[in-house]
Amino acid sequence: MASTNSLGDVAVLGLGKTGLGVASYLADLLGTRVSSVTLYGGLRSKQDQESLALERRGVRVVYGSESLEGTYDLAVASPGIPQDSPFFQSALAHAKATIGEPEFAWRESPERWVAITGTNGKTTTTLLVTELLQVGGLVASAVGNVGTVATGEVAKRAEGSWFVAELSSFQLATSSQLRPRVACLLNVTPDHLEWHGSMEAYAAAKERVFAQMAGDDLAVVSVEDQWCRAVASRLEKRGIRVCRVSVHGEQDSPDAAFVRDGRLVVRNKGTEHTLILTQNLSIRGDHNVQNALVAAATAVELGVSEDAVSHGLMSFHPLEHRIEPCGSAGGVQYVNDSKATNVDSVEKALTAFVPGKVIVLLGGHDKGTTLATLAHAVSSRCKAAVCYGEAGPRIAEALRAEDGDMGLVVRQAPHMLEALEEARSLAQPGDVVLLSPACSSFDEFGNYQQRGRRFKELVAELIAREGEADE
Ligand code: ADP
Repeated sequence: MASTNSLGDVAVLGLGKTGLGVASYLADLLGTRVSSVTLYGGLRSKQDQESLALERRGVRVVYGSESLEGTYDLAVASPGIPQDSPFFQSALAHAKATIGEPEFAWRESPERWVAITGTNGKTTTTLLVTELLQVGGLVASAVGNVGTVATGEVAKRAEGSWFVAELSSFQLATSSQLRPRVACLLNVTPDHLEWHGSMEAYAAAKERVFAQMAGDDLAVVSVEDQWCRAVASRLEKRGIRVCRVSVHGEQDSPDAAFVRDGRLVVRNKGTEHTLILTQNLSIRGDHNVQNALVAAATAVELGVSEDAVSHGLMSFHPLEHRIEPCGSAGGVQYVNDSKATNVDSVEKALTAFVPGKVIVLLGGHDKGTTLATLAHAVSSRCKAAVCYGEAGPRIAEALRAEDGDMGLVVRQAPHMLEALEEARSLAQPGDVVLLSPACSSFDEFGNYQQRGRRFKELVAELIAREGEADE
């Protein structure tokens, strides 16, 4: 049920989707639980249709400023505003409490939350959990980073419904009371270090998702990397129920999820549920087996039957830009994994294909990431790599250094277009041309979605040119 306490004078920081959603929610409470709403848009903010509509509903909007004035009972910050920024610091100085948006949504409506975090796989797993709950007859909606601001959904929330929240480390860094019924940690690998400062700080932000858990709450932790294993042990020491998830080995804890004889198995309070064969999952690669195990463990915990979980796992299809098949011609398959903006997700994507058949397109904006593990994975699993864009030369050099004369073909191209043409010329029937770039797209595109869509257009043109699409 939605909260009924008085919120007093509230400041909202940021004029993006989150800030607008929070301010709109608060505007509906003006005169009842809220005395005033002030929206600080930030330095580059200007009046537009949406902010004007809020002003008409009684919200005071301050444009072009990151300095709060006056005093507030509460400030709600959008996730893009770092805690050490002058904007956030100003909120701390002017408000009795400063929190992030998902925390605010949770305080407003704290029942039945599932929270999902990790470096990679959050969106996939969030949507998969939502689907499994729905197939199991529960009312569930995906909120948070996945695209829908949780606060905006609070007022519309159906009785008994579940929120499945994708939470980024940025959002968790500003949470304190958030207590999900089930919280999942998928993995912790280097990313966003420029924001968090260090791997320790990044991992600590993710671990906050479990901070308030107690009683019968369940922590679902994939124990494939050292950071997650350490988290699982700390939680167990605190007496929290931990479901240990592993793609690579059976776990003996009372709550666990793993693969046995090719099937997904979830153990819940000592009772085993044997689900579908991994080969019947329509999402591919070891990482998606991991996502499926995490989602299945969550659904079983919330009472979804084995049949419903298995059915939901089979019918869930790949999301756009995540190992998304986008056609084939001349026996060559084209796959769009534009969402793979870091090294780890590329390494995982490569596990979805037969070794030696993949021609991978790597490159884009250079985040300066260490390339050793990527080079190893590409050299051992791919037939060829075409490196392009700003990061192209550095990646090509790392691949050549790793491969020596083991047979990996390494080519360079200026942009994604030429990289695709080059890949096409190298491909034989049975091969896969995979865009899984390991970099962000900002040297050539506005975002990974634009890059993925452009890739799909180019593939469609290529297929039309070759005049014989395979299906
Ligand atoms: P996120 O929301 O955390 O960015 P997505 O589900 O959008 O995650 O997937 C992002 C990228 O990471 C995709 O390229 C996908 O193939 C890859 N990926 C998905 N799940 C995992 C996982 N469990 N481990 C590593 N990489 C993954």
